[in-house]
Amino acid sequence: MRSAFLPFSPPLIGEEEIAEVIDTLHSDWITTGPKVRRFEEEFAALLGAPAALALNSCTAALHVALATLGIGAGDAVITTPMTFCSSVHVIEHVGARPILVDVEPDTLNIDPVKIAEAVETFNVKRETCNVRAIMPVHLYGHPCEMDTILDIARQYDLAVVEDAAHALPAKYKGRFIGQDPDQNNTQYATRNTQYATRNTDHVSRLTCFSFYATKNLTTAEGGMLTGPPELIEEARMWSLHGLSHDAWKRYSSEGSWYYEVIRPGFKYNMTDIQAAIGLHQLRKLPQFQARRREIVRRYNQAFSQFEELQIPTERPEVEHAWHLYVLRLHVSRLHVSRLHVSRNQFIEELKARHIGTSVHFIPIHLHPYYRDKYGYQPDDLPVAYREYQRMVSLPLYPRMSDQDVEDVIEAVEDVVRQFWR
Ligand SMILES: *Cc1c(COP(=O)(O)O)cnc(C)c1O
Repeated sequence: MRSAFLPFSPPLIGEEEIAEVIDTLHSDWITTGPKVRRFEEEFAALLGAPAALALNSCTAALHVALATLGIGAGDAVITTPMTFCSSVHVIEHVGARPILVDVEPDTLNIDPVKIAEAVETFNVKRETCNVRAIMPVHLYGHPCEMDTILDIARQYDLAVVEDAAHALPAKYKGRFIGQDPDQNNTQYATRNTQYATRNTDHVSRLTCFSFYATKNLTTAEGGMLTGPPELIEEARMWSLHGLSHDAWKRYSSEGSWYYEVIRPGFKYNMTDIQAAIGLHQLRKLPQFQARRREIVRRYNQAFSQFEELQIPTERPEVEHAWHLYVLRLHVSRLHVSRLHVSRNQFIEELKARHIGTSVHFIPIHLHPYYRDKYGYQPDDLPVAYREYQRMVSLPLYPRMSDQDVEDVIEAVEDVVRQFWR
């Protein structure tokens, strides 16, 4: 057993990031300035996104996205219970109603069939709320079933706001999450003719990324909104007090003291200190991802030997971003499995072996605020509730050494064997 505790998800910050932050502090631009602009450009270029807006969190990006689309009181947004609370909070923030629909059992991503059912149900009750958007969450970094979701959006004239907090860089049918839908991906198309570019006309689509400390790329706190330039320009206004032009130009030689307030906007801009970190994290992203995949390969190889453990899904048409590695336990209920240990016990046993873990996520409808406001019972969303009870997230980050990875595997195997009856 290892002697030092293995933390669940520490960041990986190098000397390059530190030097760039110091350079920013020595400059005259410590808030939104040239480094934020460069970070936006380089981020958009990496994904082939039409335009990008750097913000101080993914939550801010989601909130700004809804405001940009004009979603508010009397409206409803369909989303998943299997997410972090902030994706759903922003729907409440704009005064709209979140409608939670259940997830697919393999990926735990929002189930497109249930989205269509929910739209039909709520369209009948149009006097109570007007369904305006779908907010899919690419859980753990595994893209949602986007072709079907976009078909539904097109059919019912809904916007799509993607929570891609976990999905940098993830691919769905050869295209990055956040990539311009009109950009032809000829390299992939020639190899996979069944994935010919679809016409996504008329679907307003915005994608939100997170650079929180635990995410695949970090700026300590931060986020990015990508989408069509006209929506991003509207979002830029919303993100900085609703000012008519960039405030940072106000104080430069090219700027003027005069500005107009066009919207009751927010204060969600990213600082150059954050962007300084992000610029170097972006350059390291390919090597970070290679290391994540290496660890996942080793985990899968080890854990697939145990019928008590279910390893994560990666559907053939996607490239997983591997933000999280979530094992599911075949907890003994109907004596189907021989693993007589509950998820909570499993976590305690790993902690006793100095391995940090977590659970992603406690379904939204179990939290008192949403449970009480909308009268949810746990079994109203049966797949999310059932899977929540048997999931555990293992450490997965580029800083893990080979020995750390082997220690996790050894600890998991040890717990499984100890409780094997
Ligand atoms: C982390 C996370 C967020 C929030 O990101 P912040 O940048 O911390 O605001 C939103 N959704 C999901 C699924 C997340 O994991």
